[in-house]
Amino acid sequence: MKTLEQVRAQLKHYPLEVEFPDIAKWQHGNTGVDFVHSIDSGVAGPHVMILALMHGNEVSGAITVDRLLQMRDTLRPLQGRVSLGFANVEAYRRFDARDPDATRYVDEDMNRVWSSVRLDGPEDSIELRRARQLRPIIDSVDYMLDLHSMHEEAPPLIVSGPLDKGIQFSADVGAPAHVIIDAGHPNGKRMRDYADFGDPASTRNALLIETGQHFSARSKDVAMDSACRFLIATGVMRASDLSTFMLAGEPSPQRFYRVTESVVATSYDFEFCDDYHGMEVIPKAGTVIAREGAREVLTPYDNCVIVMPSLRQLGPGVTVVRLGHIVTR
Ligand SMILES: [Zn+2]
Repeated sequence: MKTLEQVRAQLKHYPLEVEFPDIAKWQHGNTGVDFVHSIDSGVAGPHVMILALMHGNEVSGAITVDRLLQMRDTLRPLQGRVSLGFANVEAYRRFDARDPDATRYVDEDMNRVWSSVRLDGPEDSIELRRARQLRPIIDSVDYMLDLHSMHEEAPPLIVSGPLDKGIQFSADVGAPAHVIIDAGHPNGKRMRDYADFGDPASTRNALLIETGQHFSARSKDVAMDSACRFLIATGVMRASDLSTFMLAGEPSPQRFYRVTESVVATSYDFEFCDDYHGMEVIPKAGTVIAREGAREVLTPYDNCVIVMPSLRQLGPGVTVVRLGHIVTR
């Protein structure tokens, strides 16, 4: 039996191409919740929010929110209110470049606690405490952008959730090019699926964007581009005020993929059969893509798409890859 340390020792090491901003200066905001700031237009309109650091080592979102906060006196929303915040600040504070994967969270994954059962329940963890602090703000948000990044160098993508309104919102934002339609994780609810965000009858809506590898310079640029597109698509900012912060050129046409299953490891012995990075299309059903002892993981259908493969958090019960198919809209 392998250990997680042995698994991680075999994985590719990604250099830190970006600096981690000092976010301590943003602790005291104007919302009553630490590390959350709001810019109010004074004109009736939606409350939109960009939230970084749901996972403590996902720095691209933190760089974007830090940058937007530095611009806060010149950002002039046309309507409504723009909130900017950092979620798992305690995990971020503990980041150590010698063990960059260790600070995804402190006690538990903060993106699995977003149900009333957990938030109103008796349990305690650093992440639950922070989620409970953020909850009143999030409960008032009409449109949410939750900025994440990935363990591996993979194409950026939007996680739209399972509902038509999330798929449409992804198309309205228009980039990144890959849109993953999925129902979330069996081991706890994501913020993007929390409360009204996951209710098809509500107009409140949320997107999760994975901007690329955690520490790449490109990931930081994609995060800023995504934030600008989100602010424009929600009608709170003018495109002409943000165009200098966006990626040059027209975005690629979007492709949509529906996740049909998650592959969950049962041990530390799970291994992929190829060096998958994500968004690979496997032509034939029945192709072996991974092994775990005597168990073989097979593609369930032709043209199966590999979504976010990673062994960095490997262990019993951990989702190591999702499988999906291309959807024509
Ligand atoms: Zn994340």
